[in-house]
Amino acid sequence: MSKLKIAIQKSGRLSEKSLDLLKNCGIQIQNGNRKLRAEAKNFPIEILFLRDDDIPQYVEQGIADIGILGENEVWEQNKNVRCIQQLGFAGCRMSIAIPKDQQYEGIQSFNGKRIATSYPTVLQNFFSKENVSANVEVIGGSVEIAPSIGLADAVFDIVSTGSTLLMNGLKEVETVLRSQAVMIVNKELSSETQALLDKLLFRIRAVATAKRNKYILMNVPNESIPKISNILPGMKSPTILPLADEGWSSLHSVVQEDQFWDIIDQLKELGAEGILVSPIEKMIL
Ligand code: ATP
Ligand code: MG
Repeated sequence: MSKLKIAIQKSGRLSEKSLDLLKNCGIQIQNGNRKLRAEAKNFPIEILFLRDDDIPQYVEQGIADIGILGENEVWEQNKNVRCIQQLGFAGCRMSIAIPKDQQYEGIQSFNGKRIATSYPTVLQNFFSKENVSANVEVIGGSVEIAPSIGLADAVFDIVSTGSTLLMNGLKEVETVLRSQAVMIVNKELSSETQALLDKLLFRIRAVATAKRNKYILMNVPNESIPKISNILPGMKSPTILPLADEGWSSLHSVVQEDQFWDIIDQLKELGAEGILVSPIEKMIL
């Protein structure tokens, strides 16, 4: 029987979340200590643990069918693979930073300047689009120290909180792109492998939908049920259960997390009480 081969980061910022994603999809991994390959007990999948830099190439060549890594690395390497799903973790920005005591004079001020980065392709594309002609200095890591040792005038790097920049006396002046973890796929999967991937994607999407939604229940006066049902239509329609107290019902529904704070005031105005909101683990529409 064929197996789906997935490449994930061996150790680093993506590893734990990538494994969690598979676990949340019900895949139980038998990970022998520190092995570079593992299999699952209950799903035909083989996991390859690699450096994230190597994942695009392995997926392009079909050594792995799919891979999980940051979009930043996918853009930089520009390999012949398809990006099929954003995964909602490892969010970060790719930004240009300059010494914090310098005044920023706009993108054109980078003309003729030296910018240190580990992402030359992404930076060059950005500068070409903006008609800036700068000298891109490629360095493998610890990019933030480049200005203080006189190697560059500015840096282009990944930023999440900005604290690393701050510690190195830099300030963020241009956000070039926003990145998150994505799933990439080989362009020529066999039909069996594609079927396995579809099965995995179905589970990933069910988990992602569940994360965006909350289960909500509350007590409502019966006369408000039609109006509240309009505000909270749920997956089909809300569940209404009579309370022992005459004239009141318990209303159960589903609400998107980002809409919750917008509707809470309307619910209170319509007399809703005892509103409870709890997470949903899986959600199949
Ligand atoms: P490897 O040894 O596998 O090559 P790495 O050092 O290249 O690892 P990590 O630092 O583990 O990579 O980061 C992996 C990815 O995590 C990044 O490419 C990026 O997509 C994402 N990420 C999210 N937040 C941050 C951050 N604050 N700093 C660096 N990467 C981040
Ligand atoms: Mg790397």
